[in-house]
Amino acid sequence: MATYTCAKCGMGVNATCAKCDSPLENDSLDLGNGNSVQVSKCPNGHGKIKSPMCCGEDMSCSL
Ligand SMILES: [Zn+2]
Ligand SMILES: [Zn+2]
Repeated sequence: MATYTCAKCGMGVNATCAKCDSPLENDSLDLGNGNSVQVSKCPNGHGKIKSPMCCGEDMSCSL
């Protein structure tokens, strides 16, 4: 289970793909202007979502 945790308050979110129930993998998306955003993607290609945020920061993923 992929668990995203907030470094500030300890809030945790489990992230899995709704289609195949696989834990989402951390990835980053290059915005093309020098910035990138942290995203979570399905390892089986079902798509990606913006990583959950808490306390104004991207939550980090630990498997
Ligand atoms: Zn938080
Ligand atoms: Zn999937």
